[in-house]
Amino acid sequence: MGIIKAEDLSYNYIKLGEDEKTEEVSEAVRNVSIDIHAGEFVAILGHNGSGKSTLAKHMNALLLPTEGTIWIDGRDSRDEDALLAIRQTAGMVFQNPDNQIVAGVVEEDVGFGPENMGVPTEEIWERVDRSLEAVGMTAYRKSSPNRLSGGQKQRVAIAGVMAMEPKCIVLDEPTAMLDPGGRREVIRTVRELNRKKGITVILITHYMEEVIHADRIYVMDEGQVAMEGTPEEIFTQVERLKELRLDVPQVTELAYGLRKRGVPLSPCILDEEQLVKEILEVRAGNVHNA
Ligand code: ADP
Ligand code: MG
Repeated sequence: MGIIKAEDLSYNYIKLGEDEKTEEVSEAVRNVSIDIHAGEFVAILGHNGSGKSTLAKHMNALLLPTEGTIWIDGRDSRDEDALLAIRQTAGMVFQNPDNQIVAGVVEEDVGFGPENMGVPTEEIWERVDRSLEAVGMTAYRKSSPNRLSGGQKQRVAIAGVMAMEPKCIVLDEPTAMLDPGGRREVIRTVRELNRKKGITVILITHYMEEVIHADRIYVMDEGQVAMEGTPEEIFTQVERLKELRLDVPQVTELAYGLRKRGVPLSPCILDEEQLVKEILEVRAGNVHNA
């Protein structure tokens, strides 16, 4: 069993209608089955309202399934006795960095989680050191978080989660409020945590460019898993992705258009460098057997 496994998971939000008597049911997640292995970098893509956040909130028992089951490191999220262990296994990073900052100094902010967990003081500082180092924010440890850029704040938020030493980090659109520079910073940080520290990463986003390095991608639509595969398998299905209202990276779409017109390029091109290289090869006569 993977570190996060869901079987036929469904979740309904129920709210009262305007007459305050009838109930309105919103089926946010429907029959989702996923299996994420320790050490994987998994991306979850989907347009707004496709159920990504609702699914993410099941990964550390912020929400409990209406139907079906989710296990976090083998623990059923409905098991109340396992709640603390579940919260420590899967750390969450949310969209808005400002809502995640709790202290007036960066190092205190990062130490807040382990302190709450009852980690001994000396070890807290070791963890703070390691976490700030891992996200490249050591130089700012004495700064006020308010003075940081959005990307830096998110890196501090990630360090705060790291300091709790989770096996798995779930990031729910961590770059949605950042400028392109901040987005790159955060994605680079997350990739490094995955590769160097072996932390399982679940990155939720609607920016396709951010998921080209994922090991695997799930695409959600109307609460369901609509596609699953490697970036190559997913990004070659340009028309299907558009049906699911996702923006395909410009370079991938251009390559796809060229291929349709008979230019022999490989089936999935995800970055400019690769496209340029292949076009030069085509011009030189080294045609791909695509
Ligand atoms: P995403 O993160 O992909 O944008 P969400 O999981 O936030 O999607 O939402 C999935 C569906 O559930 C949407 O139709 C949304 O309107 C609905 N929804 C989300 N949160 C609530 C809530 N607190 N109450 C009622 N409906 C909700
Ligand atoms: Mg969301």
